[in-house]
Amino acid sequence: MRQPASIFNDVIGPVMVGPSSSHTAASARIGYLLRCMCQNAPERVICEFSRSGSLAFCHEGQGTDMGLAGGLLGLAPEDERMREAVVLARQAGIELEFAITEEAFPHPNTYKVRAWGGGRQFAALFASLGGGMIELRELNGIPLSIDGGYHEALFLLGSCGTQAAQQVLQELNAGLGDCEDIVLCGNEAVGFIINVKSARPINIEAPTKNRVARDFLLLPPIMPVQSHKHYVGLFHTATEIEALAQAENLSLAQLAIIYEARRGHITEAEVFERMRRLLRIMRQAIQRAESRPQYADRILPPQAHLLRAAPQLPNPALNAVIRNITLLMEAKSALLPIVAAPTAGSCGALPGTIIGAAHSLGKGEDDMAKALLAAALVGVLIAEHATFAAEVGGCQAECGAASGMAAAGLVQLMGGSVPTALNAASLALQNVFGLVCDPVAARVEAPCLGRNIMAGANALAMAQAALAGFEPVIPLDETIAAMREVGEKIDRSLRCTCQGGLSLTPAARKIAEQLVSKNISKTKHNI
Ligand code: SF4
Repeated sequence: MRQPASIFNDVIGPVMVGPSSSHTAASARIGYLLRCMCQNAPERVICEFSRSGSLAFCHEGQGTDMGLAGGLLGLAPEDERMREAVVLARQAGIELEFAITEEAFPHPNTYKVRAWGGGRQFAALFASLGGGMIELRELNGIPLSIDGGYHEALFLLGSCGTQAAQQVLQELNAGLGDCEDIVLCGNEAVGFIINVKSARPINIEAPTKNRVARDFLLLPPIMPVQSHKHYVGLFHTATEIEALAQAENLSLAQLAIIYEARRGHITEAEVFERMRRLLRIMRQAIQRAESRPQYADRILPPQAHLLRAAPQLPNPALNAVIRNITLLMEAKSALLPIVAAPTAGSCGALPGTIIGAAHSLGKGEDDMAKALLAAALVGVLIAEHATFAAEVGGCQAECGAASGMAAAGLVQLMGGSVPTALNAASLALQNVFGLVCDPVAARVEAPCLGRNIMAGANALAMAQAALAGFEPVIPLDETIAAMREVGEKIDRSLRCTCQGGLSLTPAARKIAEQLVSKNISKTKHNI
C-alpha cells in the first residue's frame, strides 16, 4: 500500500519551525499521532533512542524534544509556538522523558515509545524516514505500517485467537466496502490488530457490533497530500520522464504538475497554486531573516548582512544566491517558519538558488514556482530510489540532493530542455558523493550553512555546464542509484550521529560544552 513519493509530502515541505525535518517536524507528527491515540489527552510519554542511531546524540540539539512536545499539544509543525512547546507541554501536565537503549533497530531514526493518556496505554515503534516523513511500524508489539497518508482505524483485538480475528476481518470487509485496504496484522503470539485504511473519514458504527472489535483507535491523515490506492504511476525513472516529455512535448515543470495532480487526486491548478504558496513562505522567511532575528540556542550569529559591505566577486547571480541561502538558514536557526526543501537542514540551497537566480534574471513568481516544480520532480526520483535522510546517506542526501534538484530547477528557469535539466541534476549530484553529516554540537548550523552555499554554487555551475551541452557521462538514474550505494557505505559515525568528522574536533567540543552550560535542560533525560 506504500504510495510513490509525493512532491508536497516527501520533497517540498513540510512548512515547519525547527532545525531539522527528520528530528523536529517528524517528531511533531509522531507526537500528534500519539495525542490522537491517547484520545487527545496525553499524560506521559517515554521515548527511547538506540545508542547506535542518530537520535541518541541529536535529539535535543536538533529539536526532537520540541517537536514531540508540540505534537502532543496538537501544534502543527509550522506553529511558531513550537519554540516554547517543551515548557507548554510541562504546563499542560504532559510528562515527556527520554532515555537511551542499547537495543538496535533496523532504522537509525527509530522512536521506541510508551505512552499513557485518555485511559489507555500503548507501546509503539515509529521511524523518521527523512524530510519529515514518518511511519508507525509497530503497535503493542504488532507490526503494521501507517505513514499518515490515510484515515486509519485500528481495531485492537489483542489475543482473541486467529479464528475470531478472521471473523472480525470478514465483518469489516462486508461493512466497510469502500475502504482502500483492510489488513489483519499480527499473529497468535503477539496478538492481532485490524488496520483499515481509507481516503475518507471511517464510519465506525456498523462494524463494531462484534464484541471483539469494540476497542479501536481512529487516526486522521497528517500529510498534505492524501494517499489513494487507485493511483497509477506515470513514470518511475528519469529515462521514462525523458521519453514522456519528448512524446508529449512537455517541460519538466508540466510533468511535475501532472504527476502530483494524479498522485494526490487534486487538480493541476491546485498543484501550481500550492507550489506558489510554498514559494511565498520561502520568500517571507528571507524577508523576516533580514531583521536579524535571534534565538538563544544557536551557534552562528546572523551573518547575511555582512555580505552587503563585503568586497563583491564579479558574479551577481552567485552573490544573490549566497545571500538568500544564508538568510533562509538564519530564518531556520531563529525558529521562523521555513519550507523543508527537501529537508530543514538543506532548506537554504534549493529555494535560495532559485529565488536568487530568478531575481538576477528578472523572472517572476510563476517562473520560480515552475523551477521549484521541475526541481521537485528530480527530488521525487531521489526519494524513490535513494533517500533524504542524513542518518542513512550523510549530507549528500540533504545538501547533495538539494544541489541536484536546484541544478534541474535552474535549467527550467532558463528555458532549457528536459534532457538538459536531467543532465544538470546528474552532473551536480556526481559532485557531492560522499558528503558526510558531522554537525557541530548537534546543531544544524555548522558546517550546514557552508554546505548549503556549496550546494547552490554547485547547482549554478552544473546548470551552466549542462546548458552548454556538457556530457554527464552517467545518466541520472544510474547516478541516483550510485548515490544511494555511496550513502550506505558512509561510516555510521559520519551520518548525523555527531561521532566523527567536524563534530569531534576540539573547537566543536568546546562549543558543545558552552551550549550545555548555557542551557537549562528542557526535558527529563535518563541518558
Ligand atoms: S551536515 Fe548536512 S546533513 Fe548534517 S545536519 Fe548539517 S545540513 Fe543536515
